[in-house]
Amino acid sequence: MTTVNDIDFKGQRVLVRVDFNVPLNKNLEVTDDTRIRATIPTIRAILKNRGIPVLMSHLGRPKGGYEKELSLENIVDTLEKLSGQTVFFATDCIGKGTEELTRSAKTGEIVMLENLRFHTEESKGNREFAEKLSKNGDFYVNDAFGTAHRAHASTAIIADFFKGKKAFGLVMAAEIENVSKVLHQGKPPVTAIVGGAKVSSKISILENLTPRLDNLIIGGGMAFTFIKAKGGNIGSSLVEDDYLETAQKILETAEKENVKVFLPQDSVNADSFSDEAERKISRADHIEEGWMGLDVGPQTLNELEEVLLESKTILWNGPMGVFEFSNFERGTREVAKLIARATEQGAFSLVGGGDSVAAIKKFGMENEVSYVSTGGGAMLEYLEGKELPGIKAISQ
Ligand code: AMP
Repeated sequence: MTTVNDIDFKGQRVLVRVDFNVPLNKNLEVTDDTRIRATIPTIRAILKNRGIPVLMSHLGRPKGGYEKELSLENIVDTLEKLSGQTVFFATDCIGKGTEELTRSAKTGEIVMLENLRFHTEESKGNREFAEKLSKNGDFYVNDAFGTAHRAHASTAIIADFFKGKKAFGLVMAAEIENVSKVLHQGKPPVTAIVGGAKVSSKISILENLTPRLDNLIIGGGMAFTFIKAKGGNIGSSLVEDDYLETAQKILETAEKENVKVFLPQDSVNADSFSDEAERKISRADHIEEGWMGLDVGPQTLNELEEVLLESKTILWNGPMGVFEFSNFERGTREVAKLIARATEQGAFSLVGGGDSVAAIKKFGMENEVSYVSTGGGAMLEYLEGKELPGIKAISQ
């Protein structure tokens, strides 16, 4: 994999697709600079290798045309502070003026282009627009993993105009390398924990992952569809009756592939979907009518302790329960702790694709696992085994 670390740019303009889709407050100040911060090593590597970074990104969902609240000019101060370099801002991402600005920039300076999505052609993957964008660089780098699953002009189509002159940024490279450590080079036992609300949104992941696993832990609301498929009583728990057969098939595949499946043994039930609800623990397949399982119970956690501490590779996607409610977050929190313990003992752990990332952040445990993915939807599609246009465009 060629990254920005491997290239001497020799004073050329390096057009980088970054993900600066950051939240702004009413005063148009950046309230969470994580994504900008994450890109700084890529920018530094380009500067060190004598390149002039020309950065392009989207911000929010403009209707098509300029909107002050969604201008990338709002992030320039933050970028200057974090990079320690002078940043020149181009008021459009295409056009003669912009190209001239990029050509007048000198080594050590950075150019930031205006929001790509002020032009509707960006999201449509329009080829002429991609060609116009390409005039702003001599080299193309993609470092926006969060949009790698979209075939937009700046994330994929543009790569056609940089044959032999393209590379991955360091955020993107880290995402690809880390997920490969799980999907392709996982040291056994490999364990995946898949949770969250719905089976329907996780089928492709389960289908792609199962044959690669030793253990599959199923938690969250989706577990109840599996438990019902096996004949259990799940009371008023979340269920997708259209997916009972699918759940059954996934269990059959797991058995064929010698994958051990762990469904919750017990659950913490509530008499309504509320943090204030009455609580009662029961076997997960013996839930009374009128009660719903909102978290996994203590027996389940005991069993998971054994499995997780023996695992050498762990992937976590989706919470074990309704972790947003303090009375039902314990299962998710304990699983996070077990993953942290396994990691401390030498396991490789990746948290990615969805609400388990939000959960681990809520618990302040991001640094206790090996890697937390930044790309929600993109990571989901990667785990589903799909080829991401943003990655393909660079590798080809
Ligand atoms: P997902 O985006 O599919 O990963 O689903 C995450 C959501 O699933 C979170 O908002 C959780 O509150 C929700 N969830 C997890 N467990 C349950 C459950 N047992 N019943 C209902 N919702 C759940």
